[in-house]
Amino acid sequence: MKKESTVCVVGSINMDLTISTEKMPEQGETILGGPFATYPGGKGANQAVAAARVGANVNMIGAVGDDAFGVTLLDHLKGEGINAEGITMTHEAATGIATIILSENDNRIIVAAGANNHVLPELVDKHHELIKHSDVVLMQLEIPMETVARTLKIAGEYDVPVVVNPAPYQSLPDDILTESAFFTPNEIEVEAMKNDSLFDSIREKLIITKGDEGVAFYDDGADQFVQGFHVEVKDTTGAGDTFNGALAACLGSGLPIDEAVQFANAAAALSVTKVGAQGGMPTSREVEKFIR
Ligand code: ADP
Repeated sequence: MKKESTVCVVGSINMDLTISTEKMPEQGETILGGPFATYPGGKGANQAVAAARVGANVNMIGAVGDDAFGVTLLDHLKGEGINAEGITMTHEAATGIATIILSENDNRIIVAAGANNHVLPELVDKHHELIKHSDVVLMQLEIPMETVARTLKIAGEYDVPVVVNPAPYQSLPDDILTESAFFTPNEIEVEAMKNDSLFDSIREKLIITKGDEGVAFYDDGADQFVQGFHVEVKDTTGAGDTFNGALAACLGSGLPIDEAVQFANAAAALSVTKVGAQGGMPTSREVEKFIR
């Protein structure tokens, strides 16, 4: 990234609780498994960390519970250099968690959104200055849809462009489709988006990530494609989150869309060469060295 960039992420913050097991327990069965590990996660927090790693100033608006995971996650985000003044600690729900059971040929995940359901429009209203002073806003769909809509209205008032990563996919209301600057679905999400009534009118706003194949987008009046990098894959968890954080950081710094996509494509490719969603997110210097 050449110029300074400030990204405001409005999104989810979770603690991922992972337990490995040789086999899944049957109904009513208790088994001994392990090892167990905790990892900071949530699409919002992941994308905020990705943007911060590549050098953006990041303001985050979100919520954690008033509990031990909440304290740990807030410290973690601050440690990544993220401005956490927009993150509230609510008494009304526990910190969001994802319980992930990993076995050799089966993964099972239960998410308890908890405090993320308390990222309400009023919270965004309260922190509207963070949006006003950002170059770009980045959101996902792990917070209430009404908050996504409200954030778009506020960003619109300040002429701040908004990138929406429609994950996990939910049907998008028309105002969200028309007011967002870009959508960044993966291949599965874009198929689902085709059911949205205004889909045909937003084709030019799509930046579609296609795993190891690369990224499809629209520029200069035509469909464009950036090829994926051939890398040694260790863990693809968080590839999309790395892409989104890096993309928003680049767009915020004023890079044209094609250069922003190329940089984010490289950052995401680097992320899959390391284990963990946030663990593999590269710095700007690492991305530039990789591209050269
Ligand atoms: P998600 O993680 O949301 O499912 P994708 O699988 O489309 O999203 O991955 C997002 C981006 O990450 C891709 O567009 C690409 O830039 C990069 N990426 C993902 N998997 C690989 C891979 N195996 N090799 C290289 N780059 C990858």
